[in-house]
Amino acid sequence: MEPILEVRNLVCGYQTSPVFQQVNLSIYPGQLTGLVGPSGCGKSTLIKAILGLIQPWAGEVRFRGKRLKPGTSPPKVGYVPQVETVDWSFPVTAEEVVMMGCYQKHKILSFPQKRDRLAAREFLHRVGIEHIAHKPIGDLSGGQQQRVFLARALVGKPDIVLLDEPTSSSDLHVQHELLHLLADLNQQGLTILLSTHDLNSVATHLPWVVCFNHGLIAQGQPEQVFTPAILEQTFGAEMVVFHHEDRILIASGGTSLRHQMQNNLPQILRQERIL
Ligand code: ADP
Ligand code: MG
Repeated sequence: MEPILEVRNLVCGYQTSPVFQQVNLSIYPGQLTGLVGPSGCGKSTLIKAILGLIQPWAGEVRFRGKRLKPGTSPPKVGYVPQVETVDWSFPVTAEEVVMMGCYQKHKILSFPQKRDRLAAREFLHRVGIEHIAHKPIGDLSGGQQQRVFLARALVGKPDIVLLDEPTSSSDLHVQHELLHLLADLNQQGLTILLSTHDLNSVATHLPWVVCFNHGLIAQGQPEQVFTPAILEQTFGAEMVVFHHEDRILIASGGTSLRHQMQNNLPQILRQERIL
């Protein structure tokens, strides 16, 4: 099968400091992949380079085998930025934000058309927040803002959506709901790549994970890559891994933590049960 997205020998950096060297990564149609690594390890930089938002120092990005020209945005790719990077005082409603995804599709600056409004409504409905269509985005909760941006990405009918830290909300219930929604969209055929620094509530629930720390460390199913050795290489700290039925639980720390976790495992499992 041909990859939908391919990163070849990619090198990126800012000013004179490289962030990562020689990254090679293939994403296949239908995958739901987590890009996992600590803060500052280059996840957003990789996502922005894939999207053509920053210029790589070397290497290339290919979509369906076609090389992306430097400085251009790829077609049929949706992007959900990190909510922390968005200016929420900008006076637009949820519906208007989603409609912006339509203009990007038309590639012209024009007044909104009726069909754009209908499409925006349809996708707000798909992500479960049609009822807040007329609210200013600044008045929405973090979880709702995330869904507005997801609807904006989906309205362009992308083949693949890239989400940067979509589960950074501290509310476990909101994270849970978003992961379910993404799993549903993936079941319907959408290819998804999302970044996260969160191991337990996000990464261990994804079918495929890429461990990243200023370069690719490992990739595979969570049970294959979440080993103490790979986690230490990824997060630069000692980690303890527990397997309980079909669940994986990860904590940083050594032996004393192992005892603590074994004693509290039933409670932790109840709290962390996400998907
Ligand atoms: P992550 O998304 O994994 O937290 P980033 O890709 O945002 O990591 O950042 C990787 C490194 O690049 C960090 O050291 C960060 O400080 C640096 N960096 C990110 N954006 C810029 C920028 N615009 N200018 C200079 N350095 C940056
Ligand atoms: Mg980031």
